[in-house]
Amino acid sequence: MKIEEGKGIVRGIAIGEPYLNKRNSYDLNSCHKIEQTEVPMEEECLKKAIEDSKKEIRFLKSNLDKKIEKSDLQILTVHLMMLEDPMFLKEIERGIKKDLITAECSVKRASDKFTNLFEKIEDPIYKQRALDIKDVSERIINNILLAETGYQDMDGKILITDELLPSELLKIYQNGSKPEGIIMEYAGETSHVAILAKALEIPTLMGGKNLFSITWADLVILDTIEENAKVINDPEELTLQEYRKKKKELERNRAEIEKNKDLPSVMLDGVKVSLQINVGGETEAEILERKKPDGIGLLRTEMIYMESEDFPREEEQYRLYDKIGKDMKGNPVIIRTLDIGADKQLPYYTMETEQNPSLGLRGLRFSLHNQEIFKEQLRAILRASAKRNIKVMFPMVTNYQEVVTAKKILEYEKNRLRGQGIPFNEEIEVGAMVEVPSVIFMADIIAEEVDFFSIGTNDLTQYIQATDRFNSSAGELYDPYAPCVLRAINMLAETGRAKDRKVSVCGELAGEEMGAVILLSFGITNLSMIASSILVIRSLIRKIDSKTLPALKKKILNSKNSAEVKTIVKEFIENL
Ligand code: PEP
Ligand code: MG
Repeated sequence: MKIEEGKGIVRGIAIGEPYLNKRNSYDLNSCHKIEQTEVPMEEECLKKAIEDSKKEIRFLKSNLDKKIEKSDLQILTVHLMMLEDPMFLKEIERGIKKDLITAECSVKRASDKFTNLFEKIEDPIYKQRALDIKDVSERIINNILLAETGYQDMDGKILITDELLPSELLKIYQNGSKPEGIIMEYAGETSHVAILAKALEIPTLMGGKNLFSITWADLVILDTIEENAKVINDPEELTLQEYRKKKKELERNRAEIEKNKDLPSVMLDGVKVSLQINVGGETEAEILERKKPDGIGLLRTEMIYMESEDFPREEEQYRLYDKIGKDMKGNPVIIRTLDIGADKQLPYYTMETEQNPSLGLRGLRFSLHNQEIFKEQLRAILRASAKRNIKVMFPMVTNYQEVVTAKKILEYEKNRLRGQGIPFNEEIEVGAMVEVPSVIFMADIIAEEVDFFSIGTNDLTQYIQATDRFNSSAGELYDPYAPCVLRAINMLAETGRAKDRKVSVCGELAGEEMGAVILLSFGITNLSMIASSILVIRSLIRKIDSKTLPALKKKILNSKNSAEVKTIVKEFIENL
């Protein structure tokens, strides 16, 4: 029995036969030169392979539609865009035409060039981009060589690999099989493949070391219950029995969660909690039916802008917001105005280079500097509010004046619509996101201008601790469970109560079991999260007696560090 370690990305236990798959990517050494006369043939071959690749991706996309949330399938849209990227395609053509190398060789060379370039950048977003290029390039090469991609039936098996490309995982799933667990050397918890593994609920360990120098037994256990995940190779009988029991227990918990799915989100003593979802566009009817959210607590409209070929026009936005509002059947939809800058960029708009983009022209700051874009969006939101339960929210608010200015612009657009006789909700609620610490200190004043606050713990955590949410070099500092972050959240909750303003949380913390309990203990009963968390959190809420929360809150606020917070909250959850 030997234990290997790594980081648990998707929680769970898997027991199964290992399936080793080392990636055999096309080797540049097998490259050979072509004659000038062969150029047109290679070009034709490339063209066909690209078209075939597009067809495959479109097929994959339509096949997985409704099985996987739309936002998780955006990865494939990115891949389709890459197949049309002029810079990438030019580089490949140059290889064939000028350097007289075969199409597959030229794709591989271009892929290596861009991958190396992106991998050198510390930011995980660029590392992800590198993986996407690799994914798309391998698909083209396979189509040129008419090669089949590896994976067989994965049911009951634990996949051990150096790296898994998102589209490979989707293909395995589309073929009707699903690995019990995934163990990989590649580490990237925010990567697309991690997001997909989460969506498919496959226990996953990342960052495994030298997995191919290990002698694997016929049976392994993968335990990703804790973040410090482990793999037990060749377990002893007793360990195996213990894990089979644990796995059953997890399955029972899951069944219980399913049982609660149609019940209301109320605590044992009747206190109601509103559970809403964070979305990036339309949501599948099946998901709404299964999760029964109380509304959309965060519509990240930048996703709509990112998928467009140009800034989406008012009419197009209006129709989409109206449709989303209609699908929610009267439940509220909080539309967040465009939040670009820093990690979120638009393919058709080049932002000014800044030394610290996270501290620069982001969110509302961008909108106030680009008022025509802002106004167009506000008009669309206002028009959609005529028939639907829609609220508007500003991201990355820093101070009172910004809110006043944004509201003036909103009033201006209301006036214009009035003048044109176009209906909208005169009483549309306006909210501010709480992501910058300054808002917490000024919340009592800002409260005069807004109807509600929504705390974005993802950004708030980074700005309170002066640590980059996407940069792992100071990674351990980025911790939403740090008492400083929790105290800040609690301060805002108190101001909200004093000023009679609703407070909700829409950062990732709200969708985590420990996070949700902490927020409930602070009296925050509006939580917005990814749809996949709704059932788990609903089930948890139904076990809590709100009268036990004040004592918990006191302990949390007196904690010295996040480890202490986690111990306290874990114990509370275990005793439910
Ligand atoms: C947040 O910062 O917590 C948030 C919800 O916004 P985003 O993750 O889109 O930046
Ligand atoms: Mg944010």
